[in-house]
Amino acid sequence: MEIAGVVGAGTMGSGVAGNLVQKGFQVIITDTSAAALQKSRENIYQNLRLQKLYRNSELSLVNDIEELMERILFTTDYSNLRSASYIIENVTENLQTKQEVYTMLEKVCKPDTVFIANTSSIPISSIASYIHRPDRLMGVHFMNPVVLKEYVEGIQGSDTSKECVEKTKKLLLKMGKKLLLVKDSPGFVSNRISHLYMNEAFYIVEEQIASVETVDEIFKQCFSHAMGPLETADLIGLDIVMDTLNILYKYYGNKKFLCCPLLVRMVGEGKLGRKSGQGFYQY
Ligand code: NAD
Repeated sequence: MEIAGVVGAGTMGSGVAGNLVQKGFQVIITDTSAAALQKSRENIYQNLRLQKLYRNSELSLVNDIEELMERILFTTDYSNLRSASYIIENVTENLQTKQEVYTMLEKVCKPDTVFIANTSSIPISSIASYIHRPDRLMGVHFMNPVVLKEYVEGIQGSDTSKECVEKTKKLLLKMGKKLLLVKDSPGFVSNRISHLYMNEAFYIVEEQIASVETVDEIFKQCFSHAMGPLETADLIGLDIVMDTLNILYKYYGNKKFLCCPLLVRMVGEGKLGRKSGQGFYQY
């Protein structure tokens, strides 16, 4: 059984780990926080139960969720990642944190292990500059919730090798994902555009031009989007949205990416969206 390592056990790491185990991988998931790992275990278990309930065929190979859970090692010890052929990194959207993680990963992992950075906005070449072999790293911007999304945005850094892209494509195929490949730039395509309209939606609510519900309904009913910008921001996590806008501002130096004060206030109050139970909506 192929072994995949997942670093960071938050929203995305848990989603990626759940997807991998469903598709026949053995998974090692690490985090610096034991509490995050415990929460991740609970989330993955609940998601597998939901998958089994609503998409039974997806779990036809293995019907026993307990058995799937046994294929995931939850650990704070990075040395366990040595046996992984792939590492999918999903740590907090912060350059320094990513740097610490990649410095450690390069020490621990085998020389042919492929590194996949899941980031919302940080240029892949910046992340790759922290390791001695940048050819073996590429970006994959997974969509949330991971298991339900068929497409991912792939980012080829300036030093990413063709071999790394091909190996990553193979992994994604096994995960049931298709790759849309773009060139490296802050925020890539998806978030460079989407974070601007989410930020404008925050201003509209702050200026009381329309209610939260009306803003979202306009996107859903008039534009046929599956979700409105405020629901989307709650799903992503308002802290992650804020971090992403800050990174876009830092790289582009353009004021259009400055965070709306309402967003900053909400994050400061711990209103982070779905994951904290309160954001633009209550959960
Ligand atoms: P999150 O805050 O839910 O989880 C981040 C996890 O990283 C936390 O559990 C934290 O304890 C852990 N962590 C921090 N430092 C670490 C370290 N040194 N080693 C190991 N673990 C560490 O964040 P998330 O929403 O899962 O986002 C993770 C990454 O995925 C970010 O780069 C984000 O931009 C990107 N992303 C997020 C979404 C989304 O919808 N939330 C979508 C696509 C990509």
